[in-house]
Amino acid sequence: MSTSYRSTRSSEQSTKTFEEAVIQGLATDGGLFIPSEIPTIDQKIIERWSKLSFQDLAFEIMKLYISDKEIPDSDLKELIKRSYSTFRSEDVTPLAKNVTGEHENLHVLELFHGPTYAFKDVALQFVGNLFEYFLQRANKDLPQEQRKKITVVGATSGDTGSAAIYGLRGKKDVAVFILYPTGRISPIQEEQMTTVGDKNVQTLSVKGTFDNCQDIVKAIFGDKEFNERHNVGAVNSINWARILAQMTYYFYAYFQAVGASGKVKFVVPSGNFGDILAGYYAKKMGLSVEKLVIATNENDILDRFLKSGVYERSDDVAATLSPAMDILISSNFERLLWYLARDTLANGNDLEAGKIVREWFTELKADGKFVVDSAVIQTALKDFESERVSNSETTSTIKEVYATSKSPKNYILDPHTAVGVCATKRQILKDNDSSINYISLSTAHPAKFADAVNEALSSFPEYSFEKDVLPAELKKLSTLEKKIKLVDRADIELVKSIIDEEMQKMGL
Ligand SMILES: *Cc1c(COP(=O)(O)O)cnc(C)c1O
Repeated sequence: MSTSYRSTRSSEQSTKTFEEAVIQGLATDGGLFIPSEIPTIDQKIIERWSKLSFQDLAFEIMKLYISDKEIPDSDLKELIKRSYSTFRSEDVTPLAKNVTGEHENLHVLELFHGPTYAFKDVALQFVGNLFEYFLQRANKDLPQEQRKKITVVGATSGDTGSAAIYGLRGKKDVAVFILYPTGRISPIQEEQMTTVGDKNVQTLSVKGTFDNCQDIVKAIFGDKEFNERHNVGAVNSINWARILAQMTYYFYAYFQAVGASGKVKFVVPSGNFGDILAGYYAKKMGLSVEKLVIATNENDILDRFLKSGVYERSDDVAATLSPAMDILISSNFERLLWYLARDTLANGNDLEAGKIVREWFTELKADGKFVVDSAVIQTALKDFESERVSNSETTSTIKEVYATSKSPKNYILDPHTAVGVCATKRQILKDNDSSINYISLSTAHPAKFADAVNEALSSFPEYSFEKDVLPAELKKLSTLEKKIKLVDRADIELVKSIIDEEMQKMGL
Protein backbone atom coordinates (compact mmCIF):
# COMPACT_ATOMS: atom_id res chain seq x y z
CA MET A 1 0.00 0.00 0.00
CA SER A 2 1.27 3.43 -0.88
CA THR A 3 1.33 5.72 2.07
CA SER A 4 4.64 7.50 1.49
CA TYR A 5 5.44 10.28 -0.93
CA ARG A 6 8.37 11.21 -3.18
CA SER A 7 9.24 14.23 -5.30
CA THR A 8 8.90 14.29 -9.11
CA ARG A 9 12.41 15.72 -9.34
CA SER A 10 14.35 13.83 -6.72
CA SER A 11 17.16 11.54 -7.54
CA GLU A 12 17.08 10.11 -4.06
CA GLN A 13 14.79 7.41 -2.81
CA SER A 14 13.89 9.27 0.41
CA THR A 15 10.17 9.70 1.11
CA LYS A 16 7.79 11.84 3.16
CA THR A 17 4.69 11.02 5.12
CA PHE A 18 1.26 12.17 3.96
CA GLU A 19 1.23 14.94 6.57
CA GLU A 20 4.65 16.22 5.47
CA ALA A 21 3.61 16.20 1.81
CA VAL A 22 0.39 18.10 2.58
CA ILE A 23 1.82 20.71 4.92
CA GLN A 24 4.97 21.30 2.89
CA GLY A 25 3.09 21.48 -0.43
CA LEU A 26 6.11 21.72 -2.72
CA ALA A 27 9.23 19.54 -2.34
CA THR A 28 12.50 21.31 -1.50
CA ASP A 29 13.99 20.33 -4.88
CA GLY A 30 11.15 22.22 -6.61
CA GLY A 31 9.28 19.04 -7.55
CA LEU A 32 5.75 17.93 -6.70
CA PHE A 33 4.87 15.13 -4.30
CA ILE A 34 3.55 11.88 -5.73
CA PRO A 35 2.74 8.60 -3.95
CA SER A 36 5.65 6.15 -4.01
CA GLU A 37 3.30 3.69 -5.61
CA ILE A 38 -0.23 3.90 -7.02
CA PRO A 39 -2.44 1.40 -5.16
CA THR A 40 -4.47 -0.88 -7.42
CA ILE A 41 -7.85 -2.48 -6.87
CA ASP A 42 -9.52 -5.47 -8.55
CA GLN A 43 -12.98 -5.90 -10.05
CA LYS A 44 -14.33 -7.41 -6.83
CA ILE A 45 -13.50 -4.22 -4.95
CA ILE A 46 -14.96 -2.13 -7.79
CA GLU A 47 -18.21 -4.10 -7.44
CA ARG A 48 -18.30 -3.37 -3.71
CA TRP A 49 -17.38 0.30 -4.13
CA SER A 50 -20.07 0.81 -6.78
CA LYS A 51 -22.71 0.58 -4.08
CA LEU A 52 -21.19 3.06 -1.62
CA SER A 53 -22.21 6.60 -0.75
CA PHE A 54 -19.89 9.43 -1.81
CA GLN A 55 -18.51 9.72 1.73
CA ASP A 56 -17.91 5.99 2.21
CA LEU A 57 -16.23 5.82 -1.19
CA ALA A 58 -14.00 8.79 -0.30
CA PHE A 59 -12.96 6.93 2.83
CA GLU A 60 -12.07 3.71 0.97
CA ILE A 61 -9.97 5.63 -1.57
CA MET A 62 -8.17 7.90 0.90
CA LYS A 63 -7.35 4.95 3.17
CA LEU A 64 -5.18 3.57 0.37
CA TYR A 65 -3.07 6.75 0.36
CA ILE A 66 -2.94 7.62 4.08
CA SER A 67 -1.52 5.26 6.69
CA ASP A 68 -3.93 4.62 9.58
CA LYS A 69 -0.97 5.28 11.83
CA GLU A 70 -1.02 8.88 10.56
CA ILE A 71 -4.78 9.34 10.61
CA PRO A 72 -6.78 6.62 12.38
CA ASP A 73 -9.82 5.38 10.42
CA SER A 74 -12.36 6.93 12.77
CA ASP A 75 -10.72 10.37 12.46
CA LEU A 76 -10.53 10.11 8.66
CA LYS A 77 -14.21 9.18 8.51
CA GLU A 78 -15.09 12.17 10.66
CA LEU A 79 -12.97 14.54 8.52
CA ILE A 80 -14.72 13.33 5.36
CA LYS A 81 -18.17 13.57 6.91
CA ARG A 82 -17.54 17.13 8.05
CA SER A 83 -16.03 18.21 4.74
CA TYR A 84 -19.02 17.18 2.65
CA SER A 85 -21.74 18.23 5.10
CA THR A 86 -21.40 21.76 3.66
CA PHE A 87 -22.60 20.63 0.20
CA ARG A 88 -26.13 21.36 -0.95
CA SER A 89 -26.60 17.99 -2.68
CA GLU A 90 -26.97 14.67 -0.89
CA ASP A 91 -24.89 13.05 -3.63
CA VAL A 92 -22.23 15.78 -3.11
CA THR A 93 -21.38 15.62 -6.84
CA PRO A 94 -24.60 14.58 -8.64
CA LEU A 95 -24.61 13.36 -12.22
CA ALA A 96 -27.13 15.09 -14.50
CA LYS A 97 -27.90 12.40 -17.08
CA ASN A 98 -28.73 13.07 -20.71
CA VAL A 99 -28.95 16.75 -20.01
CA THR A 100 -28.38 18.26 -23.46
CA GLY A 101 -31.42 16.56 -24.96
CA GLU A 102 -29.30 15.64 -28.00
CA HIS A 103 -27.24 12.67 -26.85
CA GLU A 104 -28.52 10.06 -24.42
CA ASN A 105 -24.98 9.11 -23.53
CA LEU A 106 -23.78 12.61 -22.58
CA HIS A 107 -23.94 13.27 -18.84
CA VAL A 108 -22.87 16.34 -16.90
CA LEU A 109 -21.08 15.82 -13.58
CA GLU A 110 -22.07 18.77 -11.38
CA LEU A 111 -19.14 19.60 -9.15
CA PHE A 112 -20.48 23.01 -8.05
CA HIS A 113 -22.75 22.20 -5.12
CA GLY A 114 -20.24 23.27 -2.46
CA PRO A 115 -20.23 26.55 -0.51
CA THR A 116 -18.59 28.70 -3.25
CA TYR A 117 -20.39 27.11 -6.22
CA ALA A 118 -17.18 25.86 -7.90
CA PHE A 119 -15.44 22.50 -8.17
CA LYS A 120 -12.49 23.62 -6.03
CA ASP A 121 -14.71 23.20 -2.96
CA VAL A 122 -14.62 19.41 -3.31
CA ALA A 123 -10.91 19.51 -2.48
CA LEU A 124 -10.61 22.63 -0.35
CA GLN A 125 -13.38 21.80 2.11
CA PHE A 126 -11.39 18.66 2.91
CA VAL A 127 -7.98 20.38 2.90
CA GLY A 128 -9.18 23.04 5.36
CA ASN A 129 -10.30 20.40 7.83
CA LEU A 130 -7.08 18.46 7.29
CA PHE A 131 -4.92 21.52 8.11
CA GLU A 132 -6.91 22.11 11.27
CA TYR A 133 -6.64 18.44 12.24
CA PHE A 134 -2.84 18.36 11.88
CA LEU A 135 -2.45 21.65 13.77
CA GLN A 136 -4.73 20.68 16.62
CA ARG A 137 -2.87 17.45 17.06
CA ALA A 138 0.51 19.20 17.13
CA ASN A 139 -0.81 21.85 19.53
CA LYS A 140 -2.50 19.51 21.95
CA ASP A 141 -1.53 20.49 25.51
CA LEU A 142 0.73 23.37 24.39
CA PRO A 143 0.35 26.81 25.98
CA GLN A 144 -0.95 29.58 23.71
CA GLU A 145 2.43 31.16 22.92
CA GLN A 146 3.94 27.85 21.79
CA ARG A 147 1.09 26.80 19.52
CA LYS A 148 2.03 26.14 15.92
CA LYS A 149 0.14 28.36 13.48
CA ILE A 150 -0.23 28.58 9.73
CA THR A 151 -0.70 31.80 7.83
CA VAL A 152 -2.12 31.07 4.40
CA VAL A 153 -1.31 33.78 1.88
CA GLY A 154 -2.64 33.57 -1.66
CA ALA A 155 -3.42 35.63 -4.75
CA THR A 156 -6.56 35.07 -6.75
CA SER A 157 -8.12 36.22 -9.98
CA GLY A 158 -11.40 34.61 -8.96
CA ASP A 159 -12.35 31.09 -7.90
CA THR A 160 -9.40 29.82 -5.88
CA GLY A 161 -9.58 32.64 -3.34
CA SER A 162 -13.16 32.10 -2.31
CA ALA A 163 -12.82 28.31 -2.20
CA ALA A 164 -9.72 28.67 0.03
CA ILE A 165 -11.50 31.16 2.30
CA TYR A 166 -14.53 28.92 2.70
CA GLY A 167 -12.25 25.95 3.36
CA LEU A 168 -10.32 27.74 6.12
CA ARG A 169 -12.83 30.12 7.71
CA GLY A 170 -13.06 29.77 11.46
CA LYS A 171 -10.27 27.17 11.64
CA LYS A 172 -8.24 27.35 14.81
CA ASP A 173 -4.61 28.51 14.57
CA VAL A 174 -5.00 29.34 10.87
CA ALA A 175 -5.02 32.87 9.41
CA VAL A 176 -5.96 33.52 5.77
CA PHE A 177 -4.96 36.47 3.61
CA ILE A 178 -6.16 36.57 0.03
CA LEU A 179 -4.94 39.28 -2.34
CA TYR A 180 -6.93 40.26 -5.42
CA PRO A 181 -6.65 43.10 -7.94
CA THR A 182 -9.09 45.93 -7.16
CA GLY A 183 -11.92 46.09 -9.67
CA ARG A 184 -10.64 43.18 -11.73
CA ILE A 185 -12.63 40.25 -10.40
CA SER A 186 -16.36 39.71 -10.91
CA PRO A 187 -18.73 41.37 -8.40
CA ILE A 188 -20.05 38.00 -7.22
CA GLN A 189 -16.55 36.68 -6.65
CA GLU A 190 -15.68 39.77 -4.64
CA GLU A 191 -18.87 39.50 -2.61
CA GLN A 192 -18.21 35.82 -1.89
CA MET A 193 -14.78 36.57 -0.48
CA THR A 194 -15.44 39.80 1.36
CA THR A 195 -18.68 38.92 3.15
CA VAL A 196 -17.08 36.13 5.19
CA GLY A 197 -17.15 37.55 8.71
CA ASP A 198 -14.77 35.10 10.42
CA LYS A 199 -12.01 36.79 12.36
CA ASN A 200 -9.25 34.64 10.86
CA VAL A 201 -9.99 35.74 7.27
CA GLN A 202 -8.87 38.98 5.63
CA THR A 203 -9.13 39.89 1.95
CA LEU A 204 -6.73 42.49 0.60
CA SER A 205 -7.92 44.47 -2.39
CA VAL A 206 -4.69 45.56 -4.07
CA LYS A 207 -4.51 48.48 -6.47
CA GLY A 208 -2.82 46.73 -9.39
CA THR A 209 -3.06 43.64 -11.58
CA PHE A 210 -3.34 39.94 -10.77
CA ASP A 211 0.34 39.59 -11.68
CA ASN A 212 1.23 42.27 -9.10
CA CYS A 213 -0.69 40.28 -6.47
CA GLN A 214 1.01 37.06 -7.45
CA ASP A 215 4.46 38.69 -7.37
CA ILE A 216 3.81 39.97 -3.85
CA VAL A 217 2.75 36.49 -2.71
CA LYS A 218 5.87 34.95 -4.26
CA ALA A 219 8.06 37.56 -2.57
CA ILE A 220 6.39 36.83 0.78
CA PHE A 221 7.11 33.12 0.36
CA GLY A 222 10.74 33.96 -0.37
CA ASP A 223 11.06 36.21 2.70
CA LYS A 224 12.76 33.91 5.19
CA GLU A 225 12.35 36.10 8.28
CA PHE A 226 8.65 36.81 7.65
CA ASN A 227 8.10 33.16 6.82
CA GLU A 228 9.63 31.94 10.06
CA ARG A 229 7.65 34.44 12.09
CA HIS A 230 4.29 33.53 10.53
CA ASN A 231 4.79 30.01 9.13
CA VAL A 232 3.43 31.00 5.73
CA GLY A 233 1.57 28.25 3.87
CA ALA A 234 -0.28 27.80 0.60
CA VAL A 235 -3.25 25.76 -0.48
CA ASN A 236 -2.49 26.05 -4.20
CA SER A 237 -3.45 23.58 -6.83
CA ILE A 238 -0.33 21.43 -6.54
CA ASN A 239 -1.17 20.29 -3.00
CA TRP A 240 -1.40 16.50 -3.03
CA ALA A 241 -4.45 16.42 -0.73
CA ARG A 242 -6.46 18.30 -3.36
CA ILE A 243 -5.71 15.68 -6.02
CA LEU A 244 -6.55 12.89 -3.59
CA ALA A 245 -9.92 14.40 -2.61
CA GLN A 246 -10.88 14.79 -6.27
CA MET A 247 -10.42 11.09 -7.11
CA THR A 248 -13.71 10.24 -5.38
CA TYR A 249 -15.98 11.86 -7.95
CA TYR A 250 -14.42 9.97 -10.87
CA PHE A 251 -15.33 6.65 -9.23
CA TYR A 252 -18.69 7.88 -7.99
CA ALA A 253 -19.77 9.33 -11.35
CA TYR A 254 -18.61 6.22 -13.21
CA PHE A 255 -20.76 4.04 -10.96
CA GLN A 256 -23.76 6.35 -11.39
CA ALA A 257 -23.40 6.25 -15.17
CA VAL A 258 -22.76 2.55 -15.83
CA GLY A 259 -22.60 0.65 -12.52
CA ALA A 260 -19.58 -1.56 -11.86
CA SER A 261 -18.55 -1.91 -15.52
CA GLY A 262 -19.02 -0.19 -18.84
CA LYS A 263 -17.33 2.13 -21.34
CA VAL A 264 -16.80 5.66 -20.03
CA LYS A 265 -14.89 8.70 -21.24
CA PHE A 266 -14.39 11.69 -18.95
CA VAL A 267 -14.09 15.15 -20.49
CA VAL A 268 -12.47 17.73 -18.24
CA PRO A 269 -12.19 21.51 -18.70
CA SER A 270 -8.54 21.96 -17.77
CA GLY A 271 -6.13 24.67 -16.69
CA ASN A 272 -3.59 23.63 -14.08
CA PHE A 273 -4.33 19.93 -14.73
CA GLY A 274 -5.34 19.22 -11.12
CA ASP A 275 -8.85 18.07 -11.87
CA ILE A 276 -8.06 15.66 -14.70
CA LEU A 277 -4.96 14.33 -12.93
CA ALA A 278 -7.25 12.89 -10.25
CA GLY A 279 -8.97 11.00 -13.08
CA TYR A 280 -5.60 9.65 -14.21
CA TYR A 281 -4.98 8.23 -10.73
CA ALA A 282 -8.47 6.67 -10.72
CA LYS A 283 -7.71 5.01 -14.07
CA LYS A 284 -4.32 3.75 -12.92
CA MET A 285 -5.90 2.38 -9.73
CA GLY A 286 -8.08 0.17 -11.90
CA LEU A 287 -11.22 2.09 -12.83
CA SER A 288 -11.91 1.03 -16.40
CA VAL A 289 -11.93 4.43 -18.14
CA GLU A 290 -11.60 4.45 -21.95
CA LYS A 291 -9.98 7.88 -22.15
CA LEU A 292 -9.59 11.13 -20.27
CA VAL A 293 -10.20 14.06 -22.59
CA ILE A 294 -8.40 17.33 -21.83
CA ALA A 295 -10.58 20.28 -22.89
CA THR A 296 -8.69 23.59 -23.07
CA ASN A 297 -9.70 27.09 -24.04
CA GLU A 298 -7.46 29.26 -26.23
CA ASN A 299 -4.68 28.88 -23.65
CA ASP A 300 -3.89 25.51 -25.15
CA ILE A 301 -0.41 24.44 -24.02
CA LEU A 302 -1.72 20.95 -23.15
CA ASP A 303 -3.48 20.45 -26.47
CA ARG A 304 -0.38 21.60 -28.38
CA PHE A 305 1.82 19.25 -26.35
CA LEU A 306 -0.29 16.18 -27.12
CA LYS A 307 -0.33 17.06 -30.82
CA SER A 308 3.34 18.05 -31.24
CA GLY A 309 5.42 16.74 -28.33
CA VAL A 310 6.55 20.31 -27.65
CA TYR A 311 5.76 21.73 -24.22
CA GLU A 312 6.03 25.46 -24.84
CA ARG A 313 4.97 28.42 -22.78
CA SER A 314 3.35 31.13 -24.94
CA ASP A 315 4.33 34.77 -24.40
CA ASP A 316 0.97 36.01 -23.27
CA VAL A 317 -2.01 34.57 -21.56
CA ALA A 318 -5.21 35.07 -23.58
CA ALA A 319 -8.14 36.53 -21.63
CA THR A 320 -11.00 34.11 -22.44
CA LEU A 321 -14.60 33.57 -21.35
CA SER A 322 -13.34 30.78 -19.05
CA PRO A 323 -10.83 32.71 -16.90
CA ALA A 324 -10.15 29.92 -14.38
CA MET A 325 -8.41 28.09 -17.25
CA ASP A 326 -6.33 31.06 -18.43
CA ILE A 327 -2.85 29.72 -17.70
CA LEU A 328 0.55 29.76 -19.40
CA ILE A 329 1.80 26.47 -18.00
CA SER A 330 -0.08 23.75 -16.13
CA SER A 331 1.46 23.29 -12.71
CA ASN A 332 0.16 19.75 -12.08
CA PHE A 333 1.25 18.46 -15.48
CA GLU A 334 4.67 17.75 -13.99
CA ARG A 335 3.14 14.81 -12.15
CA LEU A 336 1.96 13.19 -15.37
CA LEU A 337 5.31 13.90 -17.01
CA TRP A 338 7.02 11.91 -14.29
CA TYR A 339 4.88 8.83 -15.03
CA LEU A 340 5.42 9.26 -18.78
CA ALA A 341 9.18 9.52 -18.27
CA ARG A 342 9.25 6.48 -16.01
CA ASP A 343 7.14 4.26 -18.26
CA THR A 344 8.63 5.32 -21.61
CA LEU A 345 12.23 6.43 -21.15
CA ALA A 346 13.40 5.19 -17.75
CA ASN A 347 12.51 1.48 -17.96
CA GLY A 348 10.36 1.84 -14.88
CA ASN A 349 13.21 3.30 -12.83
CA ASP A 350 11.97 5.94 -10.34
CA LEU A 351 15.28 7.73 -9.87
CA GLU A 352 15.92 7.96 -13.59
CA ALA A 353 12.43 9.42 -14.10
CA GLY A 354 13.18 12.17 -11.55
CA LYS A 355 16.36 13.01 -13.43
CA ILE A 356 14.57 13.28 -16.78
CA VAL A 357 11.84 15.53 -15.32
CA ARG A 358 14.52 17.75 -13.79
CA GLU A 359 16.19 18.13 -17.17
CA TRP A 360 12.90 18.97 -18.91
CA PHE A 361 12.13 21.72 -16.39
CA THR A 362 15.65 23.12 -16.58
CA GLU A 363 15.12 23.44 -20.34
CA LEU A 364 11.68 24.99 -19.87
CA LYS A 365 13.16 27.61 -17.60
CA ALA A 366 16.05 28.40 -19.93
CA ASP A 367 14.35 28.20 -23.35
CA GLY A 368 10.63 28.48 -22.58
CA LYS A 369 10.09 24.98 -23.96
CA PHE A 370 11.19 21.37 -24.13
CA VAL A 371 10.58 18.62 -26.68
CA VAL A 372 9.85 15.00 -25.85
CA ASP A 373 10.36 11.82 -27.84
CA SER A 374 7.34 10.71 -29.89
CA ALA A 375 7.26 7.54 -27.78
CA VAL A 376 6.35 9.71 -24.79
CA ILE A 377 3.36 11.12 -26.65
CA GLN A 378 2.33 7.60 -27.72
CA THR A 379 2.28 6.60 -24.05
CA ALA A 380 0.26 9.70 -23.10
CA LEU A 381 -2.28 8.98 -25.85
CA LYS A 382 -3.10 5.61 -24.27
CA ASP A 383 -4.84 7.52 -21.48
CA PHE A 384 -5.54 10.99 -22.88
CA GLU A 385 -7.01 12.87 -25.81
CA SER A 386 -7.36 16.63 -26.13
CA GLU A 387 -9.64 19.25 -27.64
CA ARG A 388 -9.19 23.02 -27.88
CA VAL A 389 -12.32 25.17 -27.74
CA SER A 390 -12.56 28.82 -28.86
CA ASN A 391 -14.52 31.65 -27.25
CA SER A 392 -17.15 31.64 -29.96
CA GLU A 393 -17.63 27.88 -29.62
CA THR A 394 -18.01 28.37 -25.87
CA THR A 395 -20.80 30.89 -26.37
CA SER A 396 -22.58 28.82 -28.99
CA THR A 397 -22.45 25.72 -26.78
CA ILE A 398 -24.16 27.60 -23.92
CA LYS A 399 -26.83 28.67 -26.42
CA GLU A 400 -27.33 25.22 -27.97
CA VAL A 401 -27.68 23.40 -24.68
CA TYR A 402 -30.11 26.03 -23.38
CA ALA A 403 -32.22 25.58 -26.51
CA THR A 404 -32.13 21.76 -26.79
CA SER A 405 -32.27 20.54 -23.19
CA LYS A 406 -35.57 19.06 -22.10
CA SER A 407 -35.10 17.55 -18.69
CA PRO A 408 -34.48 19.89 -17.00
CA LYS A 409 -35.59 22.38 -19.61
CA ASN A 410 -33.24 25.23 -20.52
CA TYR A 411 -30.19 23.83 -18.74
CA ILE A 412 -27.60 26.58 -18.32
CA LEU A 413 -23.86 25.88 -18.55
CA ASP A 414 -21.14 28.11 -17.13
CA PRO A 415 -18.44 28.95 -19.70
CA HIS A 416 -15.88 26.47 -18.27
CA THR A 417 -18.42 23.66 -18.40
CA ALA A 418 -19.32 24.77 -21.94
CA VAL A 419 -15.71 24.27 -23.04
CA GLY A 420 -16.03 20.69 -21.79
CA VAL A 421 -19.43 20.05 -23.35
CA CYS A 422 -18.30 21.42 -26.72
CA ALA A 423 -15.30 19.06 -26.59
CA THR A 424 -17.61 16.20 -25.61
CA LYS A 425 -19.89 16.74 -28.59
CA ARG A 426 -16.89 16.67 -30.92
CA GLN A 427 -15.77 13.40 -29.34
CA ILE A 428 -19.22 11.86 -29.79
CA LEU A 429 -19.15 12.69 -33.50
CA LYS A 430 -15.59 11.42 -33.91
CA ASP A 431 -16.08 8.16 -31.99
CA ASN A 432 -19.51 7.38 -33.42
CA ASP A 433 -19.94 4.64 -30.80
CA SER A 434 -23.18 4.72 -28.82
CA SER A 435 -21.88 2.17 -26.32
CA ILE A 436 -19.61 4.84 -24.77
CA ASN A 437 -20.93 6.99 -21.94
CA TYR A 438 -19.46 10.51 -21.85
CA ILE A 439 -19.13 12.26 -18.50
CA SER A 440 -18.51 15.95 -18.99
CA LEU A 441 -17.29 17.67 -15.83
CA SER A 442 -19.11 20.85 -14.79
CA THR A 443 -16.70 22.98 -12.78
CA ALA A 444 -18.75 26.06 -11.85
CA HIS A 445 -22.29 27.29 -11.38
CA PRO A 446 -23.30 29.70 -14.18
CA ALA A 447 -24.13 32.48 -11.69
CA LYS A 448 -20.40 32.94 -11.10
CA PHE A 449 -19.79 34.01 -14.69
CA ALA A 450 -22.71 36.30 -15.37
CA ASP A 451 -21.17 38.24 -18.28
CA ALA A 452 -20.38 35.19 -20.41
CA VAL A 453 -23.73 33.55 -19.69
CA ASN A 454 -25.70 36.73 -20.38
CA GLU A 455 -23.79 37.32 -23.60
CA ALA A 456 -24.82 33.86 -24.78
CA LEU A 457 -28.43 33.90 -23.64
CA SER A 458 -29.70 37.49 -23.75
CA SER A 459 -31.16 36.94 -27.22
CA PHE A 460 -33.70 34.47 -25.79
CA PRO A 461 -36.71 36.63 -24.86
CA GLU A 462 -37.79 34.50 -21.90
CA TYR A 463 -34.29 34.34 -20.37
CA SER A 464 -33.61 36.17 -17.11
CA PHE A 465 -30.35 36.01 -15.14
CA GLU A 466 -32.05 36.95 -11.87
CA LYS A 467 -34.79 34.35 -12.25
CA ASP A 468 -33.07 31.52 -14.12
CA VAL A 469 -29.48 31.61 -12.90
CA LEU A 470 -28.87 33.48 -9.67
CA PRO A 471 -29.40 31.33 -6.53
CA ALA A 472 -31.01 33.17 -3.59
CA GLU A 473 -27.95 32.46 -1.47
CA LEU A 474 -25.67 34.33 -3.87
CA LYS A 475 -28.18 37.11 -4.46
CA LYS A 476 -28.28 37.78 -0.73
CA LEU A 477 -24.51 38.40 -0.65
CA SER A 478 -24.89 41.88 -2.13
CA THR A 479 -26.87 42.93 0.96
CA LEU A 480 -24.25 41.71 3.46
CA GLU A 481 -21.55 43.82 5.03
CA LYS A 482 -18.18 43.66 3.26
CA LYS A 483 -14.87 43.32 5.04
CA ILE A 484 -12.21 44.68 2.68
CA LYS A 485 -8.81 46.08 3.40
CA LEU A 486 -7.74 48.36 0.58
CA VAL A 487 -4.04 48.31 -0.29
CA ASP A 488 -3.40 51.40 -2.35
CA ARG A 489 0.02 50.38 -3.66
CA ALA A 490 1.14 46.98 -4.99
CA ASP A 491 4.05 46.95 -2.59
CA ILE A 492 5.41 43.98 -0.67
CA GLU A 493 6.50 45.94 2.42
CA LEU A 494 3.07 47.53 2.68
CA VAL A 495 1.34 44.14 2.41
CA LYS A 496 3.68 42.61 4.99
CA SER A 497 2.99 45.39 7.48
CA ILE A 498 -0.77 45.01 6.96
CA ILE A 499 -0.52 41.25 7.58
CA ASP A 500 1.50 41.91 10.77
CA GLU A 501 -1.09 44.37 11.98
CA GLU A 502 -4.06 42.14 11.17
CA MET A 503 -2.43 39.11 12.81
CA GLN A 504 -2.24 41.12 16.04
CA LYS A 505 -5.94 41.91 15.78
CA MET A 506 -6.69 38.23 15.16
CA GLY A 507 -4.74 37.37 18.30
CA LEU A 508 -2.45 35.03 16.33
C1 LIG B 1 -9.81 25.81 -11.39
C2 LIG B 1 -10.90 25.68 -12.37
C3 LIG B 1 -10.76 24.93 -13.56
C4 LIG B 1 -9.46 24.26 -13.96
O1 LIG B 1 -9.09 23.19 -13.13
P1 LIG B 1 -7.58 22.66 -13.13
O2 LIG B 1 -7.49 21.72 -12.01
O3 LIG B 1 -6.74 23.90 -12.90
O4 LIG B 1 -7.31 22.05 -14.45
C5 LIG B 1 -11.85 24.84 -14.41
N1 LIG B 1 -13.01 25.46 -14.15
C6 LIG B 1 -13.18 26.19 -13.02
C7 LIG B 1 -14.47 26.88 -12.81
C8 LIG B 1 -12.15 26.32 -12.10
O5 LIG B 1 -12.33 27.05 -10.99
